[in-house]
Order: sequence, then C-alpha cells, then structure tokens
Amino acid sequence: MDTLHELTEIFRAFPGVGPRQAKRFVHHLLQRGEDAEALSALAARLRKSVVRCELCRRFFTKEGSFKKCRACRDEGRDKATLLIVARDIDLEAVEKSGSFRGYYFVLGGTIPILDKQPEKRIALAALIARAENAAKEGLKEIVLALSANPEGEHTAETAARILAPLAKEHNIKISTLGRGLSTGTELEYADAETLKSAFKNRQ
Ligand SMILES: [Zn+2]
Repeated sequence: MDTLHELTEIFRAFPGVGPRQAKRFVHHLLQRGEDAEALSALAARLRKSVVRCELCRRFFTKEGSFKKCRACRDEGRDKATLLIVARDIDLEAVEKSGSFRGYYFVLGGTIPILDKQPEKRIALAALIARAENAAKEGLKEIVLALSANPEGEHTAETAARILAPLAKEHNIKISTLGRGLSTGTELEYADAETLKSAFKNRQ
C-alpha cells in the first residue's frame, strides 16, 4: 500500500479540497511530525469522544452520560419554535448570533436539485419524528433556515412538503428565513445582524 497515495485520497474526499491541495496537506504533515501525530491521535479519539445529540442530531463532545446537547437540555428555551438547519455549523452560527431561543434540528446536509433519494441525503424520517414529538410539547412554528441558494431552497421545499401533513394536523406554521439573507448567502457566513433581521422577516 502506498501511504502517500492513501492519505492524499483521504484529504481529497474532504469538502472543497482538490487533488493539488490534498497533496499539499500530506507534505505539510511530512514536514511537521508533531502535527501528524496530533492529527492521528485526535482523529482516533473523535468517534469516541464526540456523539450525536439524540434530539437535534448535532455532534457534541461527550459530557458524562448525556444523550442530548446543551441547547436541547436547556428547559428554558422556547418549545413553540423549532429551527431546521442543514449542518452543525449553521446551528452554531445562529446560536452565536443570539437571535433564536427555540430548539434546533440538523438535517445533516442539503439535497442536490436532481437527487432522487433525498431520504439518503438528509434525516427526513428523524425530522418528522422530532416534529411529532415537539408538536406534543406545544410546537407552534417550524422555521426552515437553509442557505439562500438553489440547493438550500430545494431542501427547504422538500422539508416543507414532508412536514405539511403534520403541520396541518397540529396547526403549526412553517416559515422560512429569507428576506434578510441575500441570494447566495451561506447561513454559516451570515453575521449576527443579518440573522436577526432574517428572523424578524421570516415568512
Ligand atoms: Zn441537541
């Protein structure tokens, strides 16, 4: 087995990394032995020390035997609103902005426009289960907070369609963030002010 090649292939599979950049990463590790060792130790620990929240599906560093992340354990949050985001990083951006005090759900990605099996891309079954549970606890509004690009919009439409029967049954409003976010904006890069106005202008 060619170690250089194998490691390059691993980096190549990372989001946004091309073949040349993957090679540069490998050479960086060759030059910096301590980084290579730290990387291998941390990567080995990752799956053991980080768990997925059973409620919102974000990853969090294990704290004791908690199965829920800090936000989901916080009983003081607003049970009437559930915010749907694509990735953990979007949740973190919203949380950091301080513009939202409800609960979250992370889809785990977005659905490419022509994709035929959306249920394999994002956690649609878990989304319905989460919304059903939240409905019993007084959920009044589901806010779809996907990026303002075609894939994000397609994902929001799919989620809205799948949630529609449940929303109708329990009289839950489905809204989307949008107006504050200009076209093409990735949620993770939106600043706190933009997010606040996007929440205010949700429709
Ligand atoms: Zn959680």
